[in-house]
Amino acid sequence: MRTMFYKKLFVLAALSLTITGCQLDSMAFNRDALSTIGGFFSPVSQQQEVVAGAQLDQKIRQKYPPSKNVALQNYVSSIGRRVAAQSGVQYPYSYVVLEDSRTANAFAAPGGFIYITTGLLNMLENESQLAAVLAHETAHVSSRHVIKRLQERSTADVALNLLSRVTDINFNNRLTQIGEAVLFQKFSREDENEADLVGTQMMVKAGYNPLGMVQMLEKLNALNARGVVIPFLQSHPSSESRARLVEEYIQRNQLVRTGQLTDTTYFHQFVR
Ligand SMILES: [Zn+2]
Repeated sequence: MRTMFYKKLFVLAALSLTITGCQLDSMAFNRDALSTIGGFFSPVSQQQEVVAGAQLDQKIRQKYPPSKNVALQNYVSSIGRRVAAQSGVQYPYSYVVLEDSRTANAFAAPGGFIYITTGLLNMLENESQLAAVLAHETAHVSSRHVIKRLQERSTADVALNLLSRVTDINFNNRLTQIGEAVLFQKFSREDENEADLVGTQMMVKAGYNPLGMVQMLEKLNALNARGVVIPFLQSHPSSESRARLVEEYIQRNQLVRTGQLTDTTYFHQFVR
C-alpha cells in the first residue's frame, strides 16, 4: 500500500515537472518565433510603461517648464490624487501644472504622468471641472489607452524588436521615444468616450459632482465655437457629443445624488 502511494506521488511529481518544463519551453519558443517574424509580439509591461514614462517626464519638464507656483502645484496634485485613488489601477500617478497661459491643454504620458497647462486651468470655473479634466486623463492611463498606443506603435516598429534583443536600456529608450511621438496624438472616439465615463465614475466616487465633466466639456466647446484655439479639444475630439453622452450616463445612473462637491474656496485661492 505504502509503495503504491509513493509511486503515485513520484508519478505526479514527475508529471508536474514535465508540464512546467513544457510551458516554459513553448513560451520561449513563441516569444522568439514571433519576434523573428517582424514584431507582432511586443511585450510592453506596466513596469516598462512606468520606466519609459519617467524618462519622458524629464523631457517634458525641459520642453514645457512646470509652474513655479508651489501652492498651485500642490493643490492640483491633491485633486489629481483624490480622483486617482478611485481608479482601481495602481500607477505612481503624478499631476504637474505646466506654465503656458497661451495653450489650453491637458495630456497623459505613459506611466501615469499627467499634465495640465495654466492656459486650461484659467478656463475652468470650479473644482469639479478641474477634477473632471484630471479624472479624464487619469482614465486614459487606468483604462490602458496609453499603454495600448505604446504597444501598437512598438509592434509596428521592427527596429524596436531588434533593439530589444540587445539590452533593456535600449528597449526603454525606444519606448520613451515612441511615447513622445504619440503624446499629442488623437485618441479614438471609443477611447475618448470611455475616458469620459470612467473619469465620471472616479469623480463621483471621490465625492465630486459629476456635472463638472459636462460643464467642462460644454465650456471648452463654447470657447472653441467662438474661435478660441483649444488644443485639448484637438487631441480629445468630438466634444459636443461627448457632453451629451456623459449627461445621459449621469441621469441613467442617478449620479448627481451621489457626488455633491462642486467647488471649494481653495480653487479660487490657487487657480483663479
Ligand atoms: Zn481624452
